[in-house]
Amino acid sequence: MTNPDAQRPSIVVLAGGIGGARFLRGLRHLVRDRAQITVIGNTGDDIWLHGLRVCPDLDTVMYTLGGGISEERGWGREDETFAVKDELTAYGVEPTWFGLGDRDIATHLIRTQLLGAGYALSDVTAALCDRWQPGVRLIPMSDDRVETHVVVDDPDGAVDAHGAPQRRAIHFQEWWVRYRAQLPAHSFVQIGLDDAKPAPGVLEAIDEADVIVLPPSNPVVSIGTILAIPRIRDAIVDAPAPVVGISPIIGGAPVRGMADACLSAIGVPTTAAAVAEHYGPRRARIPAGAPGGGILDAWLVAETDADSVAEVTARGITCAAAPLLMTDDDATATIALAALGLVDFDIAGIAP
Ligand code: GDP
Ligand code: CA
Repeated sequence: MTNPDAQRPSIVVLAGGIGGARFLRGLRHLVRDRAQITVIGNTGDDIWLHGLRVCPDLDTVMYTLGGGISEERGWGREDETFAVKDELTAYGVEPTWFGLGDRDIATHLIRTQLLGAGYALSDVTAALCDRWQPGVRLIPMSDDRVETHVVVDDPDGAVDAHGAPQRRAIHFQEWWVRYRAQLPAHSFVQIGLDDAKPAPGVLEAIDEADVIVLPPSNPVVSIGTILAIPRIRDAIVDAPAPVVGISPIIGGAPVRGMADACLSAIGVPTTAAAVAEHYGPRRARIPAGAPGGGILDAWLVAETDADSVAEVTARGITCAAAPLLMTDDDATATIALAALGLVDFDIAGIAP
């Protein structure tokens, strides 16, 4: 039997949690089974909690596409209860700030068991997806442990010998969930990065893609972390396929979450144009001999940011404005269609 995927165009999406997952649901709604969607998921947010391996972004994608997500919270399971969390708190066990739900814990139990038995995270993720049938191929960026930490002034006010605030690296989840990104971040450090390899299938998917999409995920701690895995950014720079991104920033602010705190930590203004500039135009789009070479062929901004289209275009990145609020699957499918159209991806066969 011939492989049906050999005939279908391949769309590769780099995804964080909620922004990536909601975009993917709209994209899947648009293409249905007319293209194969491969998702390279961020695992920099992963954390050990109470002996369990938790992969927040992979699970958000899996639950969102599998119909198990809490629509209201945007993470974790619907119809969730928190009895285990309450019991752990009653024992006085830290950390108490992470919302581990009872249903969700089953996922982490299975993952932890399989990892303990020696399976790679990519295999474990595929096994979990057997239940959820997300309709996409979900691959973690790496099977190796990479965890984003945030360098902050000691939250307890510790000072060094000169009386200056002592700096400390805390896990990204502690910064994001416990401190709501309100502690000014000096920098982000991905522990384990240098030795990390892309998970099996990641580089092949990028190389064989017909189009690569950066959904409106956090440019720093979601997409930025995936790009930081050795060889992934280079693979995208050199990929034969066009790369199109959708701005997570609308009117100078993130739509949800605190991406502004992440962008300011790396010195990037919270604007749609600045994020495009940060990703940078691909080599073929910059004048011969000029330094650099980024990853974008095209960038979709919100209608509110239509005045930045000229600026982004001048940098060598094809740009247009469109409504960018992912209010439901139809609206999101329209966003995906506009993004694919920007790079002339053959949408004739897959138009709604
Ligand atoms: P996280 O890992 O759960 O933080 O999720 P992601 O990194 O995938 O996505 C977070 C980003 O999604 C935030 O920076 C938001 O601005 C963006 N986002 C969320 N909803 C929307 C939306 O409706 N439209 C757009 N353009 N961006 C959105
Ligand atoms: Ca995340």
